[in-house]
Amino acid sequence: MSEQCTNHMEYMPGMEVLESDVMDQVISDMHAYDYNKYTAEDVRRALNHDYRTLEDFAALLSPAGGEFLEEMARLAKEETRKHFGNSVYMFTPLYIANYCENYCIYCGFNCHNKIRRAKLNSEEIEKEMQAIAKTGLEEILILTGESRKMSDVKYIGESCKIARKYFKLVGLEVYPMNSDEYEYLHKCGADFVTVFQETYNSDKYETLHLAGHKRIFPYRLNAQERALKGGMRGVGFAALLGLDDFRKDAFATGMHAYLLQRKYPHAEIAFSCPRLRPIINNDKINPKDVHEPQLLQVMTAYRLFMPFASITISTRECERFRDNVIGLTATKISAGVSTGIGSHVEEAEDKGDDQFEIADTRSVDEVYEAIKSKGLQPVMNDYVYV
Ligand code: SF4
Repeated sequence: MSEQCTNHMEYMPGMEVLESDVMDQVISDMHAYDYNKYTAEDVRRALNHDYRTLEDFAALLSPAGGEFLEEMARLAKEETRKHFGNSVYMFTPLYIANYCENYCIYCGFNCHNKIRRAKLNSEEIEKEMQAIAKTGLEEILILTGESRKMSDVKYIGESCKIARKYFKLVGLEVYPMNSDEYEYLHKCGADFVTVFQETYNSDKYETLHLAGHKRIFPYRLNAQERALKGGMRGVGFAALLGLDDFRKDAFATGMHAYLLQRKYPHAEIAFSCPRLRPIINNDKINPKDVHEPQLLQVMTAYRLFMPFASITISTRECERFRDNVIGLTATKISAGVSTGIGSHVEEAEDKGDDQFEIADTRSVDEVYEAIKSKGLQPVMNDYVYV
């Protein structure tokens, strides 16, 4: 396959090149991050600070930090309460297409996996959105596989326009694009852009992303900055924990968000914390173990380092874990989730295969009740357009 020879650090034609030093800073600090050097004393010092520095963040993510999980969780809960009160935000993702031109070896949607491919047309998207809106949700996350050919920017823009009719907040998790394209999608109604970097270790990244535009590491890493330049209100960050050294990846994710927050103070920052899940037609992926305590450590470290950031807990995690982290460190939870194409309208045929298996299949009502039962307040939206 000729594409496999593409240099993953070289931009492809048409990809916007930003004058930005954010990537270089993130990568060099991540490589320099020696988590084994941190001691219990470093962690205690970090916990005692009112505002935590990057060095504190590094200590909290270290193995030494793992010994203080209970204390980290207690303080994270305080910070969450301070910045978000009782609120837990609810949303649902809608997959509108699963065509993908990339070859990510860990993903069921990859271009070499023989799955049912599908793409919803405008009418189908509207029906799906109507069905979702009926559940009371006011925020939607629109997802596609990464195919510019099958899901071009105009198609995504039209979906945003439809979404704006039914929802107050529209997020996007689609392929990275140039800032003028983000500007267009913002005009169509999108507020947020999330891009998973997967891993910040570019050598590892190269071995996991064998073909397609996603292979180009720096173009992906600079997507959030291009989205902010395009006028998006907020950006989301994530490493897929388990692909590589999760401590380094979590450190790089936090640092990436922190540097962009400093450069664009108005930006709303969000973290997602996905771990690898089993996918169809692939039993060869062997995730590096990130168990629940490690995941909790990462989530609490994000909260203590950037207390005002939104943290989403996805349905990749089980009901028990999700219910335990809301209000503690997570502030946003998805509900009524399907990762297939066209699955919210009961009479409609489910057209495309799912991207990954989900562990929490509860409906919107069930998640709503679960939030309330913990003495928290389910919130559909807190943003008003005037
Ligand atoms: S992770 Fe995203 S880009 Fe990669 S194969 Fe899956 S859908 Fe495509």
